[in-house]
This record gives sequence, structure tokens and C-alpha cells, in this order.
Amino acid sequence: MPVEKTDTLIVGAGQAGLAISEHLGNNNIEHLVLEKDRIVEKWRTGRWDSLVANGPAWHDAFPSMDFSIHPDAFASKQEVTEYFEDFAKKINAPVRCNVEVLNVCKKPAGTGFKVSTSAGEIEANNIVSATGPFQHPVIPPVIPAGAPLQQLHSNSYYNPEQLPDGAVLVVGSGSSGSQIADELLRSGRTVYLSVGPHERPPRSYRGRDFVWWLGVLGKWDLATVDPDTAHVTIAVSGAHGGKTVDFREFACRGMKLVGMTSHYDNGVLHFADDLAANVAHGDASLLNMLAEADEYIYSNGLDFPTEESAKVITADPDCIVNPVSQLDLRSTGINSVIWATGYRSDFDWLQADVFDGDGKPVHQRGVTTEQGIYFLGLPWLSRRGSSFIWGVWHDAKYIADHIATQHRYRNYQPA
Ligand SMILES: Cc1cc2nc3c(=O)[nH]c(=O)nc-3n(C[C@H](O)[C@H](O)[C@H](O)COP(=O)(O)OP(=O)(O)OC[C@H]3O[C@@H](n4cnc5c(N)ncnc54)[C@H](O)[C@@H]3O)c2cc1C
Repeated sequence: MPVEKTDTLIVGAGQAGLAISEHLGNNNIEHLVLEKDRIVEKWRTGRWDSLVANGPAWHDAFPSMDFSIHPDAFASKQEVTEYFEDFAKKINAPVRCNVEVLNVCKKPAGTGFKVSTSAGEIEANNIVSATGPFQHPVIPPVIPAGAPLQQLHSNSYYNPEQLPDGAVLVVGSGSSGSQIADELLRSGRTVYLSVGPHERPPRSYRGRDFVWWLGVLGKWDLATVDPDTAHVTIAVSGAHGGKTVDFREFACRGMKLVGMTSHYDNGVLHFADDLAANVAHGDASLLNMLAEADEYIYSNGLDFPTEESAKVITADPDCIVNPVSQLDLRSTGINSVIWATGYRSDFDWLQADVFDGDGKPVHQRGVTTEQGIYFLGLPWLSRRGSSFIWGVWHDAKYIADHIATQHRYRNYQPA
């Protein structure tokens, strides 16, 4: 049987794979999208039940299709899933689900790639890796597997009911950790939250959502991550209509804040002495952004309402003033730990000289030095917005245009 051939093979049918399918289609480039599960599987099963988008629907969408909900509403994960299903239908995306790409290597002769999949072999001239910015959950090796509590990563947390009775420690103060801790607190649990370095932008300020502020202040377009803040997460939430994440307010409602989780020893969890500094860093990031927003309003002569209350930082709660350095599992009743500690990448399937010594893809806006290999959807692929819904669409256009341009060169025949 002849081997199936396609011009451009896209690995993954998340938002990145769908975005580039649209742009390749617009360029009349024949392509195929292989997805090992279902379209936007991560939005279906890799997120907790109550998750809503971090940005309002007018913003967290592809420029080529609006959400059918109110533009200022935060789409539920179900609505995001339906949005992308509709989008795939609208562009007639050639997606083949339940087919895993197992291996990609250069063809022994000529150009192009040999692709081994769970459904047989395919040959392609170009490969676009759209396998996601957040692939495999990372749980730091702090608590041994045999310790007397349940450990899970935020990607397999769905709702408070799935946890054993008792108190919960949530580790991580980015968007996932802060939202999950808040949900558990609201459900009546005793919640400890291990707070690391973070930034916490205002949900909205002087009548505009923070996504608008990041846009006009040019922050979504920042091209490189500051090495000093690369490890700093962002705590933002669209839950409950969208509210600024405020760890002091969590503490006032009864959440117990602790510093970074450092180690575990014989039933006792230990924490770094950095809680006050981490919370203060988050407060400073909030105030800086408010000051930049004020400056923008002033210099553009805008008539936005004032909002001085946004600048009020309340007094440190007792858990910050007198931080605990350790918690005994038995006496605190902590029976579960949720690690909201991020993800790692996995490109084991791709046999190509496009990785650095740490296994990270080497590329310029997703274009590698190996002819025909592209990456899409990675954090900071071209700018800060790259791994988000609206950002990946623009990166996908750039890569599709690059593929189309290469086509034109290769098809050129001197007259
Ligand atoms: C908790 C959370 C909340 C988020 N909220 C927002 C938000 O509100 N707004 C926003 O803009 N962004 C948000 N993001 C960021 C980003 O939009 C999502 O991570 C999004 O899922 C990334 O899309 P993607 O297509 O790049 O990758 P993914 O959604 O991860 O899709 C990659 C796909 O590739 C498939 N795949 C992987 N390997 C193979 C293989 N070998 N063969 C075939 N298929 C393969 C996977 O099954 C998967 O379906 C959030 C991220 C997280 C973790």
C-alpha cells in the first residue's frame, strides 16, 4: 500500500493546531492535523470543573471568530470547548482524532519527514509541533509517595468533592493555585496556601479589564521574558465574574498562608521564610501596574473614572506577621496536597537537531534552522501572548506565511 502523504503535518489539535490550520487553509497549503485525543482535549479534561477563561470573551478568542456569549463574560471551559469545536467546523479543519504521533524523523533520502503514528505511517514536507505549552504536570519531589496524604497535580483536580475529608495544602500562587485554593475555601475546607513569587494584576482598573491594560501598555507584546522574573507566576482569575486575586483577602476569609514548601520530614511539612516578601512582591506588581495605567490615562487625556480604592493594601494578616515554618500533618488534619506547580515539555517523538542542551526547542518565532520543522504555542514563542488563545493565532499566521513563502521559492521556475 502506498504511504499516505501530506504537505504539512500538524501535531496536536488544541487551539494552536486549529489556528495554523486556518492560516494554512487561507494559503491553500494542503495539511493534516493529528490529535491523540479529541479537539482541545486539555480544555475538556486537563482543567478543573468550574474553570472559566482568565480573560473576557471579547479578548480570549481568535480574531477570526467571536464567542457567542456576552463579550465581557468569562467563558466556562465548556464554552471554550464548544467555541473551538465550532471553529474547527467553520474552517473545515482536516483533523484526525485519536491518532498519536509516535515518531518523526527525516526521510533517509531527499527532503521531508517520515511520521510514525498509532494509525500507520505518513510522509510530510513540513512538521508543525502544536503539542501545547503545558504538556506534562510537574510535581516537585518534596513529599515521598508513601507519605500519609493524597498528592495530586492541579491538572487532575476537578472539584472539592474528589478530595479526602480534612484540610488541604495547595502549593503554588499562580492563577491555578489561587483559584483552586479559593474554591476549596468557599466549599468549607480548611485551606493552607503555599505562596511563592507572583505578580497579581488588578482584574480591572478605572473601567477597563486588565487584558485591555496589558494591551494598551504593550505588555502582551513583550518579546522576551525577563530572566529575573521568569519563575514568577501571575495570579489572575475570571471566576465569580472576575475579581482581583488578593491573598490578604483570602487570609481574612480564613485561608492560612505559608511560604514556599521546602521539604517534608516524618509527617511534617516545612516552609521557607519568604511569605511576607512574596506577598509584598505581588502587591508591588499591582501598584506598579496601577501607576502605569494612571500615567497612560493622563498622557492620553482620557476621561476615565478614578478608583483610588484599588490602591489600598490592607494590613498584614496574622499568618503573614507570624508565619509558620512547619505544619504537622496529623495535628493540622492535612490529608491532601494539590501541586499547582506547572508543567514540562516533551518532544521525545521528534528526532531533529532543533533542541538546546536542556532539550528546549531552538527557534525564531517558531521557525527552526532545520528545514520544515516548526514550533507553535510555546510560552514566549514570539512574545508574552504566544501561549494564549489570541496570541497563538498571530504566531500561527506567521508560521503559515513562512511555509507558503518557502513553497513559492521552491515552486519558482526561471522563465
Ligand atoms: C489551567 C489553565 C488555564 C488556562 N486559561 C487560559 C485562558 O483563560 N485564556 C487563555 O488564552 N489561555 C489559557 N491557558 C493557556 C493556554 O491557552 C492553554 O494551555 C491551551 O490549552 C494551549 O493550547 P495549545 O493548543 O497550544 O496546547 P494544548 O491545548 O495543550 O493542545 C495540544 C494538543 O496536542 C495533543 N498532542 C500532544 N502530543 C501529541 C502527539 N504526540 N500526537 C498527537 N497529538 C498530540 C494533545 O492531546 C493536545 O490536545 C490556560 C492554561 C491552563 C493550564
